[in-house]
Amino acid sequence: MGGGMSLKVLLCGPRGFCAGVVRAVAMVEACLVKFGAPVFVRHEIVHNKYVVEGLRAKGVVFVKELDEIPDSAVREGRPVLFSAHGVSKAVVAEGVRRGFMVMDATCPLVHKVHTSASALHKQGHKIMMVGHAGHPEVKGTMGQLPDGESILVQDVAEAEGLVLPVGWEELPLALATQTTLSVDETAEIIAVLQRRFPRLKLPRKEDICYATTNRQAAVKVVAPLVELMIVVGAPYSSNSVRLRETALQAGCPQAVLVQRAAELAVVDFVGVEAVGVTSAASAPEELVEEVLDFLRGKFGEVTVEEKVVVAEDMFFAMPQELRV
Ligand code: SF4
Repeated sequence: MGGGMSLKVLLCGPRGFCAGVVRAVAMVEACLVKFGAPVFVRHEIVHNKYVVEGLRAKGVVFVKELDEIPDSAVREGRPVLFSAHGVSKAVVAEGVRRGFMVMDATCPLVHKVHTSASALHKQGHKIMMVGHAGHPEVKGTMGQLPDGESILVQDVAEAEGLVLPVGWEELPLALATQTTLSVDETAEIIAVLQRRFPRLKLPRKEDICYATTNRQAAVKVVAPLVELMIVVGAPYSSNSVRLRETALQAGCPQAVLVQRAAELAVVDFVGVEAVGVTSAASAPEELVEEVLDFLRGKFGEVTVEEKVVVAEDMFFAMPQELRV
């Protein structure tokens, strides 16, 4: 049981869906309305099981790679969506080669990183990509360039130890980053890279997106005021994991990342009088409501207060062909 009968909840604001996720989910929904089921989506449209299962129930078929989609999809005019994380040039080319009706739900902010990496590469730069190996966004961004034209840096230790590929010694270098990294850790990595490679060209504006930055900023304000931070998200979602780390680094003694409220059953609430709640850019508000219901069920009295640290009004329109 909890450390008393009453609990104070501080909701971090902003939290939850970002404009890129809203757009991607709306595009899938619009395809279902316009073309009926099945609608094919390469990769989870956004990193959230609840969202993915909900769409699957409506007739969305999720595939890892385009080769899992039958040729009949072309004959039957089935749409094929690319996820918000973006795709490599090879995947785009494969879509064209197969003749798919492609709807690209790549977030416009990821698309901007792609365009800038390609432009810098065309100007003769080799690209240093800060991000996590295997993440679809990193594959998509590095996949804007031919193999061997970019190099991945995952953390400060890798930045310190980085050995440039043979032949890169005199060449211009430019930086790109994943959009969902830790703002603070990325600044440290970039500082190391700049010290070691002073010719490294930085983007005019950071690639870490507004939503990632704002969600982390809100967590930093709330973390020192609570004994426990609950992050609603997914363990394979980069921005979810970063929110949990940010809470701990900002002085919160305990931080948990949960996909659903039921996972809170094993959390020790002893001594907890105030709880912070946030949610990742891919986590719907229903799941935050579910967490609040869980807390109301566990504690006699729950007061909920929202701490809005930054106001957000970003909106990305859907492509013309899907607007009603
Ligand atoms: S987290 Fe940022 S880059 Fe990713 S989909 Fe959302 S707005 Fe776009």
